[in-house]
Amino acid sequence: MIPEFHRKKRALITGGAGQDGWYLIELLLSRGYDVAAHSRRPVESKVYDGRVCWHTGDLTDGIFLDDLLTLSAPDEVFNLAAVSQPALSWDNPFETAQLNALVPHRICEFIRLNNPACRLFQASSSEIFGDATSELQDELTRANPKSPYGVSKTYAHHIVGAYRQQYGLHLSCGIMFNHESPRRPLNFVSQKIAHAAAAAALRLTETRELDERGRPILSGGKLYLGDISVRRDFGFAGDFVEAMHLIVQNETASDFVVGTGQSHSIAEFCEAAFGVVGLDWTKYIAIDQSLVRKVDNRYTRADSTKLRSELGWHPKVPFSELVTMMVQERMRILEMALQSDQHTHLEPRS
Ligand code: NAP
Repeated sequence: MIPEFHRKKRALITGGAGQDGWYLIELLLSRGYDVAAHSRRPVESKVYDGRVCWHTGDLTDGIFLDDLLTLSAPDEVFNLAAVSQPALSWDNPFETAQLNALVPHRICEFIRLNNPACRLFQASSSEIFGDATSELQDELTRANPKSPYGVSKTYAHHIVGAYRQQYGLHLSCGIMFNHESPRRPLNFVSQKIAHAAAAAALRLTETRELDERGRPILSGGKLYLGDISVRRDFGFAGDFVEAMHLIVQNETASDFVVGTGQSHSIAEFCEAAFGVVGLDWTKYIAIDQSLVRKVDNRYTRADSTKLRSELGWHPKVPFSELVTMMVQERMRILEMALQSDQHTHLEPRS
């Protein structure tokens, strides 16, 4: 038997195949953890050179979840799995509630009953603030969610806090503002913009990847967006997983706002992305009123003073660098697809 002080820390990451999961796995492996991760889909074991133990199943199945937590016997759980897009949560409101609200609740209950030394990081979201009226949002800003996603994340946020207070468990929440990376799924606006900029630079006028209207993301040489004056606090996912890890290592469990403190409009994101490839964004962006959200958080900007002052966290990747890395990665992907002739390249721009 391995003496306790020689044993590697064990982490379980739900949503391990998502954007944050990828960066977090990299971070924890580099820090010597034994990592178990969950995905609904089988993940090839050669990813991460077989150093991650993948579990596949339905997290909303209580028996599966209990088995997962028992088998992986984690010291730290990072609960990242979620229906992670506010817009999508309207299409799947009950699945959103089950996964985003009840799964974290069940994890808290499991920890209380079976593994009280286990620490939890719960991925809370700035969407819990809804259309906040204050310029900056911090840990004390009132929750006022406006979507099934926001409501489910608010439930999880409060239940984690309640278990922490009631039972003295090490359960923390990171109230995370937008964070992006080259690994952001294509159904998020930042990645759509990066994709369209890369496609336009390659003189494509149509891409085979579709938007939520079922039309090509770049269609007739245009990227169709909703309200581009909406502002978001965009950070880099790699910086955010550092925050997750710091939060769990802290002696005291608590809630922390995670964000850069700087906001940019969607129009500014477009300008930066098309700027990376030397194009004038205004020639490629068109507004489709059907994409304007009826209820939206117009401004979000994080006040992460607590995280910075208590845990020494600082985001390292600035906005321009983040946008550049996203556009360059989309260029690489599109070029590869074009080379292998898998991409539907309809019309080169004259
Ligand atoms: P992501 O890339 O969408 O990953 C979320 C993962 O959740 C997916 O990879 C998916 O894994 C899993 N998932 C989705 N639907 C599921 C379902 N019905 N059942 C089980 N698993 C499901 O999201 P992310 O950007 O990494 O975000 C990580 C966490 O942070 C999420 O909880 C998100 O809500 C929260 N958050 C993110 C941001 C942000 O800007 N990125 C901001 C605030 C909060 P599989 O498909 O592999 O099962």
